[in-house]
Amino acid sequence: MTKPRDELVEVLPLSGFDQSLTYAVPLPFCGRLAIGSLVRIPLGRRQVMGIVTSLTPKVKPEASKLKFLITLAREEPVLTPDLVSLAGWLADYYAAKQESVLEAMIPAAVRDGAKEKTRRLIEINREILEKDATALVSRAPKQAELLSFLRKQRNPAPREATLQALGIGAGACDGLVEKGLILENREKVNRVAYDDDFATGEKVAREAPKLTDEQTTAAEELRACVRSKKFAVRLLQGITGSGKTEVYFAAMEDALQSGGSVLFLLPEVALAPQTVARIRGRFSEDDTEVVVWHSHLSAGERLDAWSAVALGRARIVVGARSAVFAPLRNLRLVVVDEEHEPAYKQEETPRYHGRDVAVYRSMLANATCVLGSATPSLESVRNVRSGKYDKIELTHRIDGRELPAVHIVDMRREALRRDSSLVLSRPLVEALRQRCAAREQSILFLNRRGFNTTMLCPQCGHVEECKHCSISLTFHRTDSRLRCHLCGHQRNAPRVCPSCQSPEIIRKGHGTQRIEDIARDMLPSNAVVVRIDADVMTRKNLFRKILADFRKGRIDVLVGTQMIAKGLDFPNVTLVGVVDADLPLRMEDFRASERAFQLLVQVAGRAGRGDRAGEVFVQSFAPHAPSIQYARRSDLEGFLEDELEQRKEFSYPPYRHLIRHLFRGRNDDKTFFFAEQWVRHIQGKLPSDVETRGPAPAPIEKMKGRYRFHLWYFTESVTRLVPILTKLREEFPMDKDIIDVLDVDAVSLS
Ligand code: ADP
Ligand code: ZN
Ligand code: ZN
Repeated sequence: MTKPRDELVEVLPLSGFDQSLTYAVPLPFCGRLAIGSLVRIPLGRRQVMGIVTSLTPKVKPEASKLKFLITLAREEPVLTPDLVSLAGWLADYYAAKQESVLEAMIPAAVRDGAKEKTRRLIEINREILEKDATALVSRAPKQAELLSFLRKQRNPAPREATLQALGIGAGACDGLVEKGLILENREKVNRVAYDDDFATGEKVAREAPKLTDEQTTAAEELRACVRSKKFAVRLLQGITGSGKTEVYFAAMEDALQSGGSVLFLLPEVALAPQTVARIRGRFSEDDTEVVVWHSHLSAGERLDAWSAVALGRARIVVGARSAVFAPLRNLRLVVVDEEHEPAYKQEETPRYHGRDVAVYRSMLANATCVLGSATPSLESVRNVRSGKYDKIELTHRIDGRELPAVHIVDMRREALRRDSSLVLSRPLVEALRQRCAAREQSILFLNRRGFNTTMLCPQCGHVEECKHCSISLTFHRTDSRLRCHLCGHQRNAPRVCPSCQSPEIIRKGHGTQRIEDIARDMLPSNAVVVRIDADVMTRKNLFRKILADFRKGRIDVLVGTQMIAKGLDFPNVTLVGVVDADLPLRMEDFRASERAFQLLVQVAGRAGRGDRAGEVFVQSFAPHAPSIQYARRSDLEGFLEDELEQRKEFSYPPYRHLIRHLFRGRNDDKTFFFAEQWVRHIQGKLPSDVETRGPAPAPIEKMKGRYRFHLWYFTESVTRLVPILTKLREEFPMDKDIIDVLDVDAVSLS
């Protein structure tokens, strides 16, 4: 066979070789390859899978050295062209290996060349004459029984189930197939994920409500963007309960009508069953048209979901951050709901930020990207101010419902009273009792991050901070010293409060379990108190069941962590209690105020969504903290002004990018030594705008048996710094026991 040498492709192997190679295309596959095709290639002595990244290779090896790819694993490409470009950008920007990016983009089952699940169907061959069939009866009664059963069926019957029901062996059936009496076919089975889970008995309106004037204006602007088929980013800043979802829906309708597809990202699918149900209710004719993409999918479900998208059957994908890689073609609209949520950041390789990747993908696809939030991230706010994004605002709640009244309970004063508890204060308990009596519902909210290692004065609310970094210091039990996890600064823990001289300076915290118990004790015995926490979440349907019970009014008080803070819409909730508003403030993180503010506003937003006004009680030892005061007044603009000024002063994000360099090793001293050696190694070799801090112990100093130290680079340009760091890392003789990773635009600083 003569092999034409003219068709060449560039292929990126999917295993252990982080570079594209050029291959020749064998004749049978000529003209069938596209960018994003999955192929099998020879690599050294192995055969591996790879992705076609270019049809016009830059490198053309000599004819004698040229290798042929082996086969095309799937007729349709597994990546769209925008995803192939996205992979390249993502690897460069986030200092990740191309391969790890492609692994994140393509489900394992697809990469391995697995096919969608099929089932076998059987039906009688209607051309067979009655007498041929009857002839069988005497010799093989079982086969005759199967034939007479199938004769009565209008549609092909599933083979396995039929044989099982009739108690007939596979051999008997095979025999009939061979004789041509039975026809056998394969049919694709769709494992529609989460079907059962979304059947929570909630009524979901199919019809769009009449939009308010504000919603109409916002929707018109988004529609215009979508129709323009040009890249645009809009920040949809709308207070809680202002009806952002309907605005997204209006834009989605346009995108779908023009034949395009839509990507709808949520911080966590499991926490937003209502939103998913609303999207399905509004857009899916049958349930397969909307694909729900989340981390709990089995390998088979993932494969099916992926295929439905890749083959164009589904044009809407709803999912958490990894759904940003769904192989949607003709992408017209990307929605990033609750864009400020830290959950959009992937905390393992490749450490991408789902929101930022969504923006970049929209650019590659000439799509509209809408970032929605009641409490936008400072990054997005800055992008609006610098003119990169445009802002659309929703300033009113639907039906003119009021934002709830927020009361701050000063826990320093409660601490002095004998009749008050430091977990649930007097005013909060009183409000809870009233709600129970009036058959209205309440939510008690506690922050999950129950670190209680920082020092807090219960008298004046003073928190010990690092003088260089303006973040709180961590108390170390072993030597009673306070340390800064950003710069390494340390000093002795004070015995009395440096601010008010109180000797009572403490470390404290409490969990949801305890709150549940105390609430039960303090409320009338017929009040139903139910807790939702991480344990509940591990049981797939329990969370939904609790939410459904709550909606039906079977629960009086729901106790939970931030997983109940967002996205839920319960009209009968009139009281929200925030048990400890200060916890995020005590986190060792320059974003602590931002988190505290966002959480308070989001939690408060759960109250007063129905006809009755809501009330919020916020318990705090630092009632005058700006984030708490701004949240009390729902003063987003005031908060942003204040916080941006603070960030600017320290040149923290969003004024510069932050790259975190984490060193992990089993030996404490050795890990620190190498982190310090590294700092020497890079001395004078980084661009002048880069500021390096550390190394210092990471807040979680030891994790899974490894000690952790980190180093911070503040820079104006990630794309300039990352290649330099990558090159320096290649040169650096890192100990083989030490693992170091770069986390670009780090979110978690723990
Ligand atoms: P947000 O996401 O901004 O907090 P939602 O989109 O959840 O708000 O809307 C809040 C509630 O108002 C939902 O129950 C929604 O169905 C309802 N809603 C939204 N728009 C309208 C409208 N134009 N007319 C009536 N109800 C609406
Ligand atoms: Zn410091
Ligand atoms: Zn004090």
